[in-house]
Amino acid sequence: MSDPRQHIMPVYRPPEQVFEKGEGVCLFTEDGTRYLDFIAGIAVNALGHAHPAMVEALTAQAGKLWHTSNMFRVRGAEELADKICRDTFADRVFFTNSGTEAIECAIKSARKYQWANDHKERIDIITFTGAFHGRSLGAINAGGNPKYLEGFGPPLEGFVHLEWGDHEALKEAIARPTAAAVLVEPVQGEGGVRAMPDQCLKGLRDLCNEHGVLLIFDEVQCGMGRTGKLFAHEWVDGAEPDILCSAKGIGGGFPFGACLTTEACGEHMQPGSHGSTYGGNPLAMAVGNVVWDIIANEDFLAEVRRVSGTVAQSLKSLADSHPDKVEAVTGKGLLTGLKMKADPKNLQGLCRDKNLLVGVAGANVLRLAPPLIITDENVREATRIMDEAITEWTPA
Ligand SMILES: *Cc1c(COP(=O)(O)O)cnc(C)c1O
Repeated sequence: MSDPRQHIMPVYRPPEQVFEKGEGVCLFTEDGTRYLDFIAGIAVNALGHAHPAMVEALTAQAGKLWHTSNMFRVRGAEELADKICRDTFADRVFFTNSGTEAIECAIKSARKYQWANDHKERIDIITFTGAFHGRSLGAINAGGNPKYLEGFGPPLEGFVHLEWGDHEALKEAIARPTAAAVLVEPVQGEGGVRAMPDQCLKGLRDLCNEHGVLLIFDEVQCGMGRTGKLFAHEWVDGAEPDILCSAKGIGGGFPFGACLTTEACGEHMQPGSHGSTYGGNPLAMAVGNVVWDIIANEDFLAEVRRVSGTVAQSLKSLADSHPDKVEAVTGKGLLTGLKMKADPKNLQGLCRDKNLLVGVAGANVLRLAPPLIITDENVREATRIMDEAITEWTPA
């Protein structure tokens, strides 16, 4: 029999399981086996699987109108943009189909702002090691990961990569006359679930202001309630960005993203500057409005913070019982994990064999990004399985 995967471009190496159905925090394979999902499509299914309000909104919209393109007004997009600007720093929103496209819009908006303000020399986008901003040519050049750049032609001009945590290099780079913007994840996802210290976020904002450099937060993974605030930078007073990229959780599983800007950064993006055929289409917006109404609610966020505390305690207890294998607990809120003393790839497999789905991230991190709706009971079950798996695990 031929391999059913033979015609899929082999850029991923998924395990054997094929999931057929999801319900809340659980996934089910074709033969009905239940898995506890603590990775949620990589921080995407913020409200779990098949949330009734999302299913209702999507199916109702599917029976009415799917697509008109942005040559016509989309009511759902206008409504969602209003809510986003009511609840965040932003004044303008551009809707995309993915996180990468939100990054592209952010980089273009930042350069256009500098250009329109008579700083045509300001083109440099400053980023950090461990960053992940997506897979387009612009996004891999922003991310700077050599593994993702290899074989794809010469590195693009206008990107500066700095060591995460090197304050001196950062001060020097921001002071250069060619600096346009700093692009950073307040909590790095792929890079190892690494949170930027609060005082650094504030310091970065002040430094950018001092030198006329814009600040772009990539909150594609850490935003939308994942850390217990609507966006992760909101933990720090006075650390609002000029531009913010959202995706993943904002659609709760329906693919879309958004680039949020202040008026000053958005006003130069005029007809012809940018566009997208599908961005902000009626289906995405029907789901997006429901997701926003649920997550941008202070009671909902307070519950995320509470259950985050349970998760943090459980991970701490795992670290304490396995000091030979676990180095530290890392991350923030429900974007968290265990930094192991060796590559946790086969530990991830052991968890899966015990019906728990978790992720991995850079720097030997076993990554958790469960739906935001998890209960204490879910956390207990996941902790018990991880405890067993770590006990059995022999680091490769
Ligand atoms: C996933 C991710 C992206 C890219 O989003 P896509 O929807 O895969 O294009 C960008 N930045 C961060 C921080 C991400 O986690």
